[in-house]
Amino acid sequence: MARYNSEKISMANTFLSDKTRVGCIGLGIMGLPAAKNLQRAGYTVSAYARRPESTKTLGGTVASYSSPKELGAVCDVVVINVSDTPDVEEVTLGKNGLVHGMKPGSAIIDMSTISPATTRHVAEKLAEKDITFLDAPVSGGQKGAIDGTLTIMVGGSVDMFTKAQPLLAAMGKTITHIGTSGAGQVAKACNQIIIGATIEGVAEAMVLAQKNGVDAAAVREALLGGFAGSKVLEMHAPRMLHNNFTPGFKSVLHEKDMKIALTNGGENNLSLPAAELFLQRLQALIALGGGDLDSTAIYKVITGEKP
Ligand code: NAP
Repeated sequence: MARYNSEKISMANTFLSDKTRVGCIGLGIMGLPAAKNLQRAGYTVSAYARRPESTKTLGGTVASYSSPKELGAVCDVVVINVSDTPDVEEVTLGKNGLVHGMKPGSAIIDMSTISPATTRHVAEKLAEKDITFLDAPVSGGQKGAIDGTLTIMVGGSVDMFTKAQPLLAAMGKTITHIGTSGAGQVAKACNQIIIGATIEGVAEAMVLAQKNGVDAAAVREALLGGFAGSKVLEMHAPRMLHNNFTPGFKSVLHEKDMKIALTNGGENNLSLPAAELFLQRLQALIALGGGDLDSTAIYKVITGEKP
């Protein structure tokens, strides 16, 4: 395992900002700030968006291409931040996918959260054309994406990981090479189980405090200093207490991630009851119309109120 601190990067044989042409696909909650941080770091960013108007959010001078294939043809590296596993398959291996445009020796960095098994398949197909695929899913949410402080978990070639350091450091702070292709996505599945179980625990605790007529905000404040302290308690309990479920991280995406974790658990003959419970909470929230709300809105499923 290799861990890199963004302040201690060797600049030899890397994707330097003055030489590297970077493409971005997916300009949503995570992809747009990531692309802006690449621009801020000096990279010339081009983009493909299925709704071309989204590329305007990157500024008027950004070159916009009409397919991943066309974008890939003019880039040394393409950064992907799309929603789900089929979306990554489409923009990489699809009819107009990157595989048909990118040159041998180029690289794709996929920051979306997708299936580890599909990641390995995509990486193998791209390797046939000498295109390196790094899985580089992230944690840290919209704030981490905006601040450029994401935690990035990387699977795939160590050489390409090393080469991509300055580029990854423009978007993240704790950047760890976990292992071979798919290992980054496995780490992300682990991350989502911990976050989901913690959101459930924090939501249950906040509801319990309130049912006892105790000030839940004071409970949160007190617990932050002890072993129950966590980023979820710190940042997400206030969402619950102030009824603010603007995403953040949409419930539909968290549902997707729990399914990825549970599918992978199944492939490994594992039962993951905490992940199962959180998936059920998310599905109940989505059935109530809360799919586009932040996943912390499962709090409303517990209180029995309308989300
Ligand atoms: P989002 O706001 O919904 O943005 C998704 C972006 O991907 C949109 O720009 C969308 O285009 C584009 N897209 C989706 N499918 C596409 C396709 N087939 N072809 C081209 N473009 C496509 O989602 P997000 O929150 O940024 O999440 C992106 C990824 O990061 C997801 O895998 C998510 O699980 C992961 N993630 C999110 C967070 C978070 O806090 N939000 C944290 C960590 C990881 P349109 O605008 O046309 O729909």
